[in-house]
Amino acid sequence: MKYGRVYNFSAGPAMMPEEVLEEIASEVMNYRGSGMSVMEMSHRSKVFQQIIDEAEADLRKLMNIPDNYKVLFIQGGGTLEFSMVPLNLMKNGVACYVETGSWSKKAIAEAKRVGEAKVVASSADKNFTYVPDCSDLDIPENADYVYICENETINGTTYHKLPNTKGHVLVSDQSSMFLSRPCNVSDYGLIWAGVQKNVGPAGMAVVIIREDLLRSDLDKLPIYLDYKTHADKGSMYNTPNCWAIYCCGKVFKYLLKTGGLSAMAKRNEEKAKILYDFLDSSKLFTGAVRKEDRSLMNVPFVTPSAEQDADVVACSKAAGFDNLKGHKSVGGLRASIYNAMPKEGVEALVEFLKKYEAEHK
Ligand SMILES: *Cc1c(COP(=O)(O)O)cnc(C)c1O
Repeated sequence: MKYGRVYNFSAGPAMMPEEVLEEIASEVMNYRGSGMSVMEMSHRSKVFQQIIDEAEADLRKLMNIPDNYKVLFIQGGGTLEFSMVPLNLMKNGVACYVETGSWSKKAIAEAKRVGEAKVVASSADKNFTYVPDCSDLDIPENADYVYICENETINGTTYHKLPNTKGHVLVSDQSSMFLSRPCNVSDYGLIWAGVQKNVGPAGMAVVIIREDLLRSDLDKLPIYLDYKTHADKGSMYNTPNCWAIYCCGKVFKYLLKTGGLSAMAKRNEEKAKILYDFLDSSKLFTGAVRKEDRSLMNVPFVTPSAEQDADVVACSKAAGFDNLKGHKSVGGLRASIYNAMPKEGVEALVEFLKKYEAEHK
């Protein structure tokens, strides 16, 4: 790789497209004749207004977002959305959650501080290695929404079919799969994603919310935590994360230029297949997730022992592959192969793992 960069398999913050980084670097001293970088620029300037407007317009084009949805850029990362969702959407004080791993558990814990978070399906019985059947959930009539973590970053599962919400609003945490495949926005009431997994730098979430879910009766809620505040002010109630908006905007343009989300999905499927095919044929390495629920983004796998897992991580690091250690809560190994991981990176990883296996028979 150029510039001595490594294949970085981090779950997040994660790789960004090299071409985008080069463009950002070329504009860092003087953004298009403005005489300053975007880091130094007033968010009230015309130049920045154009940056944020284009970022939103490009995202709308990429995802085909209908006009009755607002796009918000909010600070506080993914974690703040665990709170903002129940604070804004729990009208009746009841919501349904599907528990599929670490990130849905965190969402449930926050929702319980706001109201009743009813777990309507869970894969805790098998250590979150699959996605439970969500075709006939027991959803109370007065439930305000059904919440899923659509791709569990740590556990490596993904929904290949959305739950049947029986007419209730669907809320999805798409952080670790955002823009990895086409998405029919109308299937959801609210989609949110922390951008540092699959798009840009950390410290921001994109929220896509159907307009009728914005409320005017939340006068006890801190103003900043009300989605309507951000919607009414075009994500600039206060100084936004200008740098993240700028970088994400570049990635949106890059995705549009490279064929949009169906082309991206094709590349992601191709990349994931290379790794999963290897895991399925290996006698040393085993994929940790039920086949039909495997994530295309986060691929957890194990050897027969924790000691050997650690040895593979150490050897891989020496060979120029970074961040292959599994999350501390589940152990093993994990390769995060987001949009920006080139196919060559996955091929090189598989070559390395094959060689390791041959040398450790
Ligand atoms: C990383 C992640 C989060 C939390 O994001 P932060 O920006 O660190 O708060 C939430 N959900 C999922 C699925 C994630 O992968």
